[in-house]
Amino acid sequence: MERYSQILNRLVQQHQAADRPVCHVKSRDEFAELVDVGLDSQNGSSLAEIEQALSQFLALNPDVSQLGFHKQLYSGVSMPAVLGDWVASLSNAVMHTFKVGPVANLMEMEVIRQLNQLVGFDNGEGLMVSGASQANLVSMMLARHSVCPEIKAEGYAGKQLVAYVSDQSHYSMRRAANVLGIGESNLIGVASDAEGRMCPLALECAIENSKRQGKIPFYIGLTAGTTVLGAYDPVSACLEVAERHDVWLHIDGAWGAPILFSDQHRHVLAGCERANSFTWDAHKLLNVPLTAGIILTRDKGLLKSATSGGGENYLFHATSDQLPELGELSLQSARRADCLKVWTAWKAAGMNGFRSKVDHLIDMRRQFVKLLKGHEAFEVIAPAEFLNVLFQYRPSCAMDEPAISDLNIRICAYLAETGEAFIDYASFGGQTGIRMILANQEVNQSYLDDLCRRIQEVGEMLLSEAAREKVPASLMKPEPPAGSRSLAAH
Ligand SMILES: *Cc1c(COP(=O)(O)O)cnc(C)c1O
Repeated sequence: MERYSQILNRLVQQHQAADRPVCHVKSRDEFAELVDVGLDSQNGSSLAEIEQALSQFLALNPDVSQLGFHKQLYSGVSMPAVLGDWVASLSNAVMHTFKVGPVANLMEMEVIRQLNQLVGFDNGEGLMVSGASQANLVSMMLARHSVCPEIKAEGYAGKQLVAYVSDQSHYSMRRAANVLGIGESNLIGVASDAEGRMCPLALECAIENSKRQGKIPFYIGLTAGTTVLGAYDPVSACLEVAERHDVWLHIDGAWGAPILFSDQHRHVLAGCERANSFTWDAHKLLNVPLTAGIILTRDKGLLKSATSGGGENYLFHATSDQLPELGELSLQSARRADCLKVWTAWKAAGMNGFRSKVDHLIDMRRQFVKLLKGHEAFEVIAPAEFLNVLFQYRPSCAMDEPAISDLNIRICAYLAETGEAFIDYASFGGQTGIRMILANQEVNQSYLDDLCRRIQEVGEMLLSEAAREKVPASLMKPEPPAGSRSLAAH
C-alpha cells in the first residue's frame, strides 16, 4: 500500500506545479503519439509504467484548476472533496442498501436534507444521481407518475403527454423526453425574453394550445441559471401558471441553484419552495469532482412509487426501521458513494464558505460586466443574473455580424492554442460571442483586467494579420507565438 501512497503523493505534487498551459490543442493522433494507451500486452505492466501514463494523463488534460479555465460550468476542484472521493473509492461502498454503505447512507441523507432546507422543501426527499441530466430525467418521470401512474405498468396507451421548457433549457430535457417515450416533439420550447428567461404568457398559451389538441400537459421545467446566459426563469409567475393548470413544476438548478446560499441574491429563486422538484449539480459551482447530481422532491413517497420494482428476492430485504432502501428510489443499482465528496466539501467550506464564494463570484461578474460596458471594443450580448458573461469583441472598423462572430471564435481558439485561457464561445439571438464563466473563487479584479486587455490585443492582432495577408477574416489561421502564457499562472 505504501508504494501507492507514494505514487499518489508524487502525482499530486506534479499536478500542483502551476507552470503549464491551461490546455493543449492537439489532434487525436498527436495525443496518441504522446501517450501509449495500448492494452494489447499479454502481461501486466509495472507500477512505474502505470505511474508514467498517469503522469502524462495529468500533464495533458486541461488544467481545470487554473484561473484561465473558463470553458465549462465549473472551475477548480475542492481538495476536501477529492479526499472524500478517494475514500469513497478505497471503501468501494455502494448506495443501494443501508447494510453495504451505512455511513454513506447517512451522509447522503444529510446532504439531501441540507439541500432541501435551502430550497425550502421542509418535508422533501431526494437522491444523488449521475448528474443533472439524470436528475431532470427523474423529475420528468415523477411528473408523469403523478399525473398518470398507470403508465408505469401499462405504457402510454395512446395518451399524449406534453412537457414545457424554455428555448434556453439544457438539452438533457430533450433526452429525457426521448428516453421516457414522451417524444421530442411533445417537448415544447417556450419562447424566452431578450435576457433568456421563459415568458410566462407564452407558457400559458402553449399549455392551452396542447389542451385544445386533446393532449395532457404534465411538466414544466424551469431553468435556474441557463447554460449560455446564466438566466433564471421567473419562478413565481410560472408557478401561477402551473398551479392554474395543475401541472408539475420542476426547477433545473444544475448551474444556478447555489445562488440559494447567498442571502443577498437568493431572491431570484423566490417561490422555489412551491416547486415539485429541483435539480442540483454539486460538480458545477461547488467544485466537487465529477459527477455529483442531485434530485430533490417536495413531497415524500413519490420517488419510491415511481421507481421501485424488482430486486426484492435477493437485494431489498425488509428493513427494521421501515425506511426504504435508497436503491428502491434509484434508476441505478450499484451506485457510488458520491455523497462522500459532497459531504467533505460541505464540511470543510461550511455554509459560510459557499455563501462567500457565491457572493464573491457574483461581485466579480458585476465588475467584469462593468469593465466590458465601459469599453468601446466590447459589447455584452445579454446580461443575466448568474456567473456567465456572453460578450463580443467588436473592432472599430466596419465588419458584418458573421465576420464579428468568426473573429470572436478565433480569439477563443488563439487563447487556447497559446495555453493562456480556455474559454468557449456560444450564440444567443443571432450573435456569437465569448462565453466567460466565472466559477473559480480565486478570480480577482486584476485578473479580469488582464483578460480583457489580452482579448483586445489578440483581436487586434488577428485582424491586422488578416489585413496583411489580405485574406477574409473567416479564413484566418492563427499562428500562436511560443511561450506567451501570462494569464495561465496563478
Ligand atoms: C450542466 C447542466 C445540465 C447537465 O448536467 P450534467 O450533470 O452534465 O448531466 C443540465 N441542466 C443545466 C442547466 C446545466 O447547466
